Amino acid sequence: MGDFKNEFSWSVSRDAAFKECRRKYYYAYYGYWGGWDRNNADYVTRTLYVLKQLQNRWLWKGSVVHHEIERVLKELVTTGRLVPFEKSVERVRYMMREGFRYSRDKLYWDHDGSMKDKTALFEHEYETGTPDEVWKKNYDEVVECLRAFYESPVLEEIKNTPHDKIISIESMNGAYFPFSGDKYFVKLDLAYEKDGGIEIVDWKTGSSAADDFQFRLYTLYAARELDAPHETISLTEYKLQSGESAVHKFSKEDLAAAEEYIKNSIQEMKDSLSDPDENAAVMKDFPRTEDEKTCAYCNFRKICFELD
Ligand code: SF4
Repeated sequence: MGDFKNEFSWSVSRDAAFKECRRKYYYAYYGYWGGWDRNNADYVTRTLYVLKQLQNRWLWKGSVVHHEIERVLKELVTTGRLVPFEKSVERVRYMMREGFRYSRDKLYWDHDGSMKDKTALFEHEYETGTPDEVWKKNYDEVVECLRAFYESPVLEEIKNTPHDKIISIESMNGAYFPFSGDKYFVKLDLAYEKDGGIEIVDWKTGSSAADDFQFRLYTLYAARELDAPHETISLTEYKLQSGESAVHKFSKEDLAAAEEYIKNSIQEMKDSLSDPDENAAVMKDFPRTEDEKTCAYCNFRKICFELD
């Protein structure tokens, strides 16, 4: 795996890391490279790779819900059968219990190779002493989110949508698309053709405010890659925890502004590289943030201040 090239590709999360702390951005997109090879990676690279995988309990909740929804929808589309809600909850309970034990025992440090499907929780790595009732609440919220998904009108709609009209059910993987000589990354929860247009669905598991820019990016993807006129693209955001939903539509000008934003963000990221053509970076060019609050919740804080 070490021979893969670390190619540049833009994403919303990359942009967020770049804005939050340059050093964090360096660790997460350059310093970690090759750290999946437990036996051959050096200490720093290996540590950065493992720490990069940590998610806090809220992110974990989101990834479990997205993973299970993806599974239910894919089964529905391929077999025409809907997994009963109780069965889905049982799968999730098993997945979370196993993941929790794995993480609590910090077994992720022993894993060789990609950690894509491994659970590594920030609370365990940093021994935050999170009480059992907090973990229980997290699990209960996963079940509530799943229930809201089962009660949403989307399931009925997908049942009645011909197979070939489903464009994407890709919560966990996503894909790269060309952008002015570079690439950008998009991960759509669900997209399908409806009434001559495109319907995009985004599941939200937290209570944070809507991510307008991310929605613009999804719409931009549909307009560019699926060649759909912007007025025929509709994005529905389902806030699974509250059971609310909201429809978002964007104008041509909104999408042009999103393209411009990405272009500028890419330029700024490339300006920070020692060799943009090779996507090569040098750690000292990426200063640490001075905001201690950002450090308190940062995956890399364990090793950050040991480094130059
Ligand atoms: S610990 Fe602080 S300075 Fe270091 S990478 Fe994280 S946020 Fe940046």
